[in-house]
Amino acid sequence: METILFLAHAETDGSLSKSAFEALGAAKTLSAGLTGSKLIAGLVGENVQSAANQLANCGASRILGVSGPDFAQSRYATDAAAAEAICKSAGATLVIAPATSRWNRVLAGVAERLGGRADTHVTGLSVQNAAVSANRWYYRQRMEAVIQRSARPWVLLLDPGSQLAWQGEPGAANVETVSLSLTDAARRTTVLGKREPAADAQTIRPEAKLLFVAGAGWTKKQADGQPHVKDAEKLILDCLKYARASLGSSKSLVDLGGEGQAVLSFLTHLNQVGQTGSTPRHPKGLATCCHGEEPHTVGWRFVSERRAVNLDPNCGWARGKADVLYVADAFAVMSKVNELLAKTTA
Ligand SMILES: Cc1cc2nc3c(=O)[nH]c(=O)nc-3n(C[C@H](O)[C@H](O)[C@H](O)COP(=O)(O)OP(=O)(O)OC[C@H]3O[C@@H](n4cnc5c(N)ncnc54)[C@H](O)[C@@H]3O)c2cc1C
Repeated sequence: METILFLAHAETDGSLSKSAFEALGAAKTLSAGLTGSKLIAGLVGENVQSAANQLANCGASRILGVSGPDFAQSRYATDAAAAEAICKSAGATLVIAPATSRWNRVLAGVAERLGGRADTHVTGLSVQNAAVSANRWYYRQRMEAVIQRSARPWVLLLDPGSQLAWQGEPGAANVETVSLSLTDAARRTTVLGKREPAADAQTIRPEAKLLFVAGAGWTKKQADGQPHVKDAEKLILDCLKYARASLGSSKSLVDLGGEGQAVLSFLTHLNQVGQTGSTPRHPKGLATCCHGEEPHTVGWRFVSERRAVNLDPNCGWARGKADVLYVADAFAVMSKVNELLAKTTA
């Protein structure tokens, strides 16, 4: 009989993130499919009461919490100790957690301490012949594997965006405090603050409906024999602004900066999509001035509807990589698209 622990950490405002609700949704579905299983929730944070209230009606038989100022911020020693204590208190055999940067750093180590196993980047959970199966992709989303393990506890980190989030009414939750004593060594690391781009400079928006991808073509010489990088910057930024899109890039475009060539000032390697970049999840994607090479399009695995604008009718997108390819000048297309978007936004 499995004891399923949904394990989450509170955000700085005390709430739970969307990815936490997605992991909870998966844990609940798993619990429903495993006869005789028990669902327990475990929370870590400075104060976990409001997070607990958010999941008061999720059907967990217990809500365990480790809280206090020591657990406000992400820190390996304290997070690992908290997660370990909750797993032990719950007697967890399966631990379902969102793959946040905070948990990604810690939970493999926790599994080791508990004598269990961990799998990261899990994109699906199911029950087959009364056994739990986890799906994950390998070789940059080219191969999908279905894994079963006999080792327990089995810690599963679910990729954000891969599950349906649990939705339910909040309530007044009863949190069972799990106490643990921390050594001074566990508090040795101090988080001094966070550095992040200003909100208006933030071009990566995981929740956006549209992924707009810019390729190296935006910086290439155009029909008049000249590059038009400033025009390209404006067209791309306007599109991001009007469509509230997230910005992706090809590797060639972000690499150009390192080679001292004119590039779009707001791009970094974090925007790169593909084999050596990211695999974002958006309902729609539009690639512009990007050739659609396999190492790039492999990062489009989870983009549901794909369109591309390219001057070249023989580009990679034309070979089954896109649902729709517009053989056209992206400068002209995006200028018209922005004009239409501006009217809609106004
Ligand atoms: C091991 C390995 C890993 C890699 N990993 C990645 C990765 O993670 N991500 C990645 O992106 N790439 C990756 N690559 C590189 C990849 O193979 C391609 O080189 C790269 O994606 C090409 O970038 P691009 O399409 O922007 O540029 P280009 O190939 O230069 O294509 C530019 C395109 O712009 C079009 N164009 C130009 N002007 C216009 C216009 N006005 N209107 C419309 N279209 C126009 C051209 O027709 C052309 O098709 C990897 C390669 C290797 C070997």
